[in-house]
Amino acid sequence: MRSKKGALVLIDGAMGEGGGQILRTSLALSLCLGKPFRMVNLRARRKKPGFRHQHLVCVNAAAKIGGARIEGATLGSQELMFAPTTIRPGHYHFDIGTAGSTTLVLQSILPALLIANGPSTLILEGGTHNPFAPPFDFLQQVFLPIINRMGPKVEARLERPGYYPKGGGRLSVTIQPAKKLKAFCLHERGKILEQRAIATVAGLPRHIAQREIGVIGQKLGWGEECLYIKEEPADMGPGNIVTIEIKSEYISEVFTGFGERRVRAETVADKAAKAALRYLAAGVPVCDHLADQLLLPFALAGGGSYNTLKPTLHTMTNSEVLKLFMDIEISMDRISKDIWQITLSQAYQ
Ligand code: ATP
Repeated sequence: MRSKKGALVLIDGAMGEGGGQILRTSLALSLCLGKPFRMVNLRARRKKPGFRHQHLVCVNAAAKIGGARIEGATLGSQELMFAPTTIRPGHYHFDIGTAGSTTLVLQSILPALLIANGPSTLILEGGTHNPFAPPFDFLQQVFLPIINRMGPKVEARLERPGYYPKGGGRLSVTIQPAKKLKAFCLHERGKILEQRAIATVAGLPRHIAQREIGVIGQKLGWGEECLYIKEEPADMGPGNIVTIEIKSEYISEVFTGFGERRVRAETVADKAAKAALRYLAAGVPVCDHLADQLLLPFALAGGGSYNTLKPTLHTMTNSEVLKLFMDIEISMDRISKDIWQITLSQAYQ
């Protein structure tokens, strides 16, 4: 069921992953394409279904930027109607008010501002390093460089980190849009140019970071020259993350472990190290998270292709949402044991 411009797109929020990503992708596409949508069963597959605070922030932010009429956006509601008018670039300040993820709010509104008819600046306050969301470092080092290769000029600055569950972070983003996004292919990552791991603690003992760095060094076989510890001021905490950065010729990837109460530092580091090892062994340029996030800009560009690991349920779900809004073909082909190629192209009827 594909919709023509102006027709209401109907979305079942229980499809695939059944989480908040379906909402964020729908908001972004609705703004970019000027298509209204109605969603039912919002976040049906989550423990607490329906709107939570951070999803309301996404809808309200998108409504401001798109001059949209909305119905149903209240806590716990599982239905939404969203009807945008035109994209309004400009200066916006969105304060989530909790540790809700700033980067997930950005996912809902950035695509529209990339193709708007003027520049924008955004200030986003809340969490900047949340589990289950792109951490700031991923946004800055991985996602935005690819967006910038597509034509727009986007810069993000971390003014203050906000760790879960306290929040209190702040980031600023400047966006110089492009008339149209340029399609491209990303099939190789090229030579690895730089690799390092940083364990950060805020208001927590230094030995947590030391143990994390120890695990990463051992699992990845990296020497001290690649391993760093960062101590943030105690009042920013409690917070602990470990990031593994791999910069290659054609792309950078970042793998993040999030410290949690009652989870050993070794376990946090081990999980991040395993994700990095899987990426290194497969030889692909694009890892899991980036694979689901690139679908939307590539679709707006009208095509393109990238090699990645086996598509996740997130990626499959995002692809289904895109097809509800756009006439786009998306193929996901296994081209060797661990490598999949995702190709987007315009559908001709
Ligand atoms: P909700 O919890 O609001 O229902 P959801 O379950 O649909 O949302 P998540 O699983 O939280 O969505 O994923 C949200 C987005 O964050 C996805 O685009 C995912 O790729 C990205 N993401 C999650 N973790 C990371 C990470 N460590 N690095 C980069 N991106 C990440």
